[in-house]
Amino acid sequence: MQVAGRRDAGQVMYKRIGILGGMSPESTIAYYEYITRRYTERFGNYGYPEIIIYSVSFQPYVNWPEQGRWDLVARGLSEAARRLEAAGADFALIATNTMHKVFDEVQAAVSIPMLSLLDALADAIQERGMRTVGLLGTAFTMEDPFYRDKLAEKGITVLVPDAEDRRYVHDVIYHELTAGVFRDESRARYVEIIRRLADRGAEGVILGCTEIPLLVSETDVNIPLFDTTAIHAEAALNYALGVN
Ligand code: GLU
Repeated sequence: MQVAGRRDAGQVMYKRIGILGGMSPESTIAYYEYITRRYTERFGNYGYPEIIIYSVSFQPYVNWPEQGRWDLVARGLSEAARRLEAAGADFALIATNTMHKVFDEVQAAVSIPMLSLLDALADAIQERGMRTVGLLGTAFTMEDPFYRDKLAEKGITVLVPDAEDRRYVHDVIYHELTAGVFRDESRARYVEIIRRLADRGAEGVILGCTEIPLLVSETDVNIPLFDTTAIHAEAALNYALGVN
């Protein structure tokens, strides 16, 4: 495949990827692994784009949303994005669903483009021709309008679990998945919740938290799943290569 790239000392150099990560480290590792392995799978060599990872200290980004202090989240991530830009990233991504609530503020703080997970996700859903999808994620992602409104703009309706299931999904994310704990019992309950969304008319289900694909996969269920980590990481790779 022919790919565009800038030339540096005779070698084709792709755009340098900046990953705003650490939210949590589990999913940041998955992004890094996906981009580098996928390149080698596609091209048969190790010439993948350069990657700069800025891993924040996660605890404030757990506390601030709980306290409703999205202003502090926006300020912290804007500063981190500026550091990625100063370090030489040609573009950057926020490697979490939840933090896309402050995507516009972070984009406004830097001159490099930020690659939105929600845009890549909407494209993936549209490519499958689906109009109604279920959503699992943190309470912020499932309950705050920022996520479903963005998808509604593209004609996609989002169904979320009931209050008890939302609480369960949220608690497992922060008490288990972000700490690298993956329990069969939690997987079984997630599968049940996904089944209930399918019963209510979801044609597919968004794994709208970048750690959930580490717990549940399409082999566990009978409905298409949208793995937001893989979708976002694939979009980043394509953007770096200049193929989209
Ligand atoms: N990684 C998770 C997400 O995709 C949650 C962690 C967080 O950003 O609070 O939403």
